[in-house]
Amino acid sequence: MSLIIPNNVHQSISERQELIINHPLYSQYQSIVDKILNQQRISDADALALYHIHDLSYLSLLADYANYLKNQNKVYYNRNIHIEPTNICVYSCAFCSYSRLIKQKEEGWQYTIEDILNILKKYDHQPITEVHITGGVIPQQDLNFYIELFKQIKKHRDIHIKALTPVEIHYISKKAKLSYAETLEKLMEAGLDSMPGGGAEIFNKEIRDKIAGGKCTTEQWLEIHRIWHHKGKRSNATMLYGHIETYEHRVEHMRLLRELQDETAGFQAFIPLKFRNKNNQMSNVPEVSIVEDMKNYAVARLYLDNFQHLKAYWAMLGRHNAQMALHFGANDLDGTIDDTTKIYSMAGSEEQHPSMTTEEIEQLILQSKKIPIERDTLYNPIKR
Ligand code: SF4
Repeated sequence: MSLIIPNNVHQSISERQELIINHPLYSQYQSIVDKILNQQRISDADALALYHIHDLSYLSLLADYANYLKNQNKVYYNRNIHIEPTNICVYSCAFCSYSRLIKQKEEGWQYTIEDILNILKKYDHQPITEVHITGGVIPQQDLNFYIELFKQIKKHRDIHIKALTPVEIHYISKKAKLSYAETLEKLMEAGLDSMPGGGAEIFNKEIRDKIAGGKCTTEQWLEIHRIWHHKGKRSNATMLYGHIETYEHRVEHMRLLRELQDETAGFQAFIPLKFRNKNNQMSNVPEVSIVEDMKNYAVARLYLDNFQHLKAYWAMLGRHNAQMALHFGANDLDGTIDDTTKIYSMAGSEEQHPSMTTEEIEQLILQSKKIPIERDTLYNPIKR
């Protein structure tokens, strides 16, 4: 599918403003657009109105303008691997295509610390900078398991460990009978460097209960990130969209993130995650179109004015759609990934074996007339 994308990558800020003001939709949305042009915060009602704009070219102009002010034409990626210690899970989220219940464990996998180290060792001679570790939740992979795992990883290699969502932190804290702060402190001492953004799903209680009931609540998810940020650490935030939620639910979700970010400034990137409907309890729910995907990126960029980075997670979206998202406010393509990641391939993503070389990732970015920048997990550019 091809969309008409304004080719404005080489334009100055004033040329971009002129294009926005001269667009036929300007008069209809002037009060919102003027806020965006003047770098003022838009309201929840404004975000909802933006979701109802059908002209994608205008949303692209606005989101690309807001992104340009923050990041110019720079698009980041990193060299990372993902390791999922298990896909067996005590929870049973309706949207999840990947997990197996403990009683179905013959269909799943459960790595030991040694297995995980062996996976990592395959990359000993490659310049990866990050290992991303998250997966199902099981009693065997408790606090002591992760403390030992992180220590062993650090002993083997100086690499950034980005691991464990609040879903996992909540579970292992409860099992260890420790507070979130105590658990995070122990994990930090063992080598945990930052936290990924998963497990947020959708914060609205009614929808969350329907699709992800039983696991950590919205308040717990936010509290774990708050504590982590107050320790001076960084994390990301996601939103699972395109299932049974409404635009109002998405705005509510982003409002809670924007408020926490105002308080802590600890989030690095916002990552919209598209609901995929293969092999899960919600296979009857149709997936949204790419038009909705792009709209969602644009509104996220415009509403989350205190998030520096908006990530198009190509393993979930598909590489060409992720490339298109670079014109709707996204400025990060995540990483080369290169691993056994199954979370999205099992849910029906077109990326069945998600792995890209750095050359391929850079090519995707250059084709968008943007500038590829390899980064570490904390967005420091890497010069090789
Ligand atoms: S989404 Fe996470 S917590 Fe929910 S069932 Fe899947 S692996 Fe378990």
